[in-house]
Amino acid sequence: MDIEKLKTSENFLEVLMENLQTNIMVVNQDIKVESVNPFLKRMLHKDLKQIEGKKCGNALGCRHAVEEGKDCGETTFCESCNLRKTIISTLSGKSSHSGNVLSREFYMNGKKIKKHFLYSCKHVKFDSTDMALLIMNDVTELEESRRTMEKMALTDPLTGLYNRRYIFDFLTGKDTREEGFSIIMMDIDRFKKINDTYGHPLGDKVLKEVADTIRGAIGEKGVAARFGGEEFLVILPNIISKEAYFYAEQLRKKIENLQITGCPSGVTISLGVAQYYQGQDVNEVIKTADQLLYLAKESGRNMTKVQ
Ligand code: GH3
Ligand code: MG
Ligand code: MG
Repeated sequence: MDIEKLKTSENFLEVLMENLQTNIMVVNQDIKVESVNPFLKRMLHKDLKQIEGKKCGNALGCRHAVEEGKDCGETTFCESCNLRKTIISTLSGKSSHSGNVLSREFYMNGKKIKKHFLYSCKHVKFDSTDMALLIMNDVTELEESRRTMEKMALTDPLTGLYNRRYIFDFLTGKDTREEGFSIIMMDIDRFKKINDTYGHPLGDKVLKEVADTIRGAIGEKGVAARFGGEEFLVILPNIISKEAYFYAEQLRKKIENLQITGCPSGVTISLGVAQYYQGQDVNEVIKTADQLLYLAKESGRNMTKVQ
């Protein structure tokens, strides 16, 4: 059958609205909900009277409206709400927007949940009144699994630190190079002996403890990664090597003082600190830090060598 003919059939729209697996909402000039389709009503777990006539964010359970106990349009966040801006622009400009993303937490069925929607907003006229028709596709599962996969691709499963791949992405980033940085390259001393003496599982535990210590010591100052087997790397943006040396020494002492159950011999690391100079190839900085690390090893281990 011709689709154009189908559109004119009496119950076409009704059947469509009843069965569409997409969220549809009609919003008026006051940013109040005129109507929603059954699919959206089911997602919200609300009666129609809790939806229709309510402000858009209140009907949707927007976390800002719920947590601030205010109407949508009056919360501290509303000025920066892109959904709100899109609706207003659709209504005032009688325009259409598509391909927008809404990622936010909502209170639905008494629970706070993170949702991702891909939405379009179209201007429509009902009985000569301007309305905005919101068509929202729930892409939460897809987006969350994409984020999980992205995270998995960039982190080390044993320690939870970033991996080598992330480090190269980060170092080659324009911002990182423009603001400058120092790196600390470190390697656990005689780690093979730890594995041989206490067993591989204990070796793994040592790697995790060392990683936790690095993460804790670096905090917000930089980015920590597991660069290889028992090798770690820290990037400190906006920091010169002299200052980085200070952090490296702090870290070395913290690790030297670690008390790890099952590893009575204790653990030490050797470190190399290098600074990036504008225009340099980032691989050169890594190479310099690596050479300094090996100098520290040759000089007796459990020490830091700086450029
Ligand atoms: P150096 O002081 O010169 O660095 O000596 P080292 O023994 O630390 O260095 P070497 O390169 O000889 O040995 C590194 C060891 O790290 C060998 C490898 O089995 C171990 N290793 C690498 N990855 C892992 C891991 O994920 N878990 C455990 N338990 N051991 C690992
Ligand atoms: Mg080693
Ligand atoms: Mg090594």
